[in-house]
Amino acid sequence: NESQRRPHVVLLSSPGMGHVIPLADFAVRLAAAHGFSVTLLTFSNFDSPAHAALLASLPSDSVTSVSLPSISLSDLPPDSPVDVHLCALLDRCLPVLRDAFLSFQNPAAAFVCDLFGSNTLPLVRELGVPGYIFFAPSLTMLTLGLHLPRLDETIDVDFEDLPDPVRLPGCVALRGTDLPDPFLKKSHPAYAPFVRIMSKYSDAAGILVNSFEEMEPEVLKAIREEEQVEAGRPPVHLVGPMVRSGSDETDESGCLEWLDRQPADSVLFVSFGSGGSLSTEQMQEMALGLEASGQRFLWVVRRPSDKEKNAAFFTTGNKDDASNYLPEGFLERTKDLGRMVPSWAPQVSVLAHPATGGFFSHCGWNSTLESTVHGVPMIAHPLYAEQRLNAVLLAEAVGITIRPRAREPYGVVGREEIAAAVKELMQGEKGKALRHRAKELQEAAARALAQRDGSSYKALQGLANKWKERASRRVANA
Ligand code: UDP
Repeated sequence: NESQRRPHVVLLSSPGMGHVIPLADFAVRLAAAHGFSVTLLTFSNFDSPAHAALLASLPSDSVTSVSLPSISLSDLPPDSPVDVHLCALLDRCLPVLRDAFLSFQNPAAAFVCDLFGSNTLPLVRELGVPGYIFFAPSLTMLTLGLHLPRLDETIDVDFEDLPDPVRLPGCVALRGTDLPDPFLKKSHPAYAPFVRIMSKYSDAAGILVNSFEEMEPEVLKAIREEEQVEAGRPPVHLVGPMVRSGSDETDESGCLEWLDRQPADSVLFVSFGSGGSLSTEQMQEMALGLEASGQRFLWVVRRPSDKEKNAAFFTTGNKDDASNYLPEGFLERTKDLGRMVPSWAPQVSVLAHPATGGFFSHCGWNSTLESTVHGVPMIAHPLYAEQRLNAVLLAEAVGITIRPRAREPYGVVGREEIAAAVKELMQGEKGKALRHRAKELQEAAARALAQRDGSSYKALQGLANKWKERASRRVANA
């Protein structure tokens, strides 16, 4: 059939919507714009309603999603952080990955795993397929990751105790406390696995990054300089922004109709990603801060969690009643200005809506790119993973974000700070400047993706041509 004749690329996504979403978009792009047949491998261990809906929305004639057989993690301590689960899954997936490869009738011309998957690259090479990494976060995060094995050797203390900021080539200065959660303390159970994962990046034939030239130009320049001098460094290809078009989204709560009735640029969208949850105290402060700001808002509310900031990671899309945990009378007092969406919103459609003028965000990289592509400035409320690093990058280098201060590192952001930031973004001079910058980046993102001349389009096309040549050599040799 048709898909058997097309050159075949295999992608492997680790669990979590933030990981599957950009790879799914990548799959669609490879199929639609570059003529590949794509297999997207996912893990059956963690399924969620949103995950299933996304996979079901893929074009079935060119993208096949295959769920790998379940891999036992029952020996891990039950309260292990999410990252520990992901590292263990990738460590243990080699036998099922080998089986999957052996079952393909159309041999793979290339393999692309996500940032957790570098340990799969030697196996895939052994099977005769060149392996790449699709690095979904920022170039700044990639720089930190590539330097991690050396930092680990040269810095004896925990990063969160470093007296001075970490200075990496081309990057904003990062305080130790702004680094990703697993890097803060060397005793974190995912720290050693991450150092191991990053030290295996040299096995990749290339690293594809979901960013574009004008987003982090200084970091790109430094990376290009390092590529010149460091032997064995896989070349970096900027192929972003890869974001969903929103065509897979449904509007069960009717929030888009509500937006239709609001003035242009007047609504603040409030959402903390696929897995983010606020603490009980932060939820109260957020509600009272939004109310005090007097601005219109559309808030994706989830049950608060005092244990994990990514409590919803594995259950994304499950719903319950918001009035159970919002301040008394809040819904009634804010009914003319605010609108709640339980658990999951059609985020891309919301950000694309003309009424949306700001995004109170956890700064996950997908959310950041979606906001950028639609020219929406942000307020940073980082929660976990590499979100604090993104918040610093967006506030200090990219220039599209206000960053209200927490009371202490990782602490609660009070209602006054929230109200002030919201007013400033939606009504103030700073907000105006950030909106202007966001529109500039929106145009730059569109230029990067433009067919034929766009820098990201050309970078992907270069790789696609290489993979197609491989596929046709295979056919010729068969
Ligand atoms: N998302 C969504 N609706 C929601 C929450 C999240 O569509 O209510 C999507 C969002 O558009 C983005 C992804 O989930 O594509 C979240 O990825 P991100 O990297 O921002 O954060 P993560 O979920 O990995 O923390």
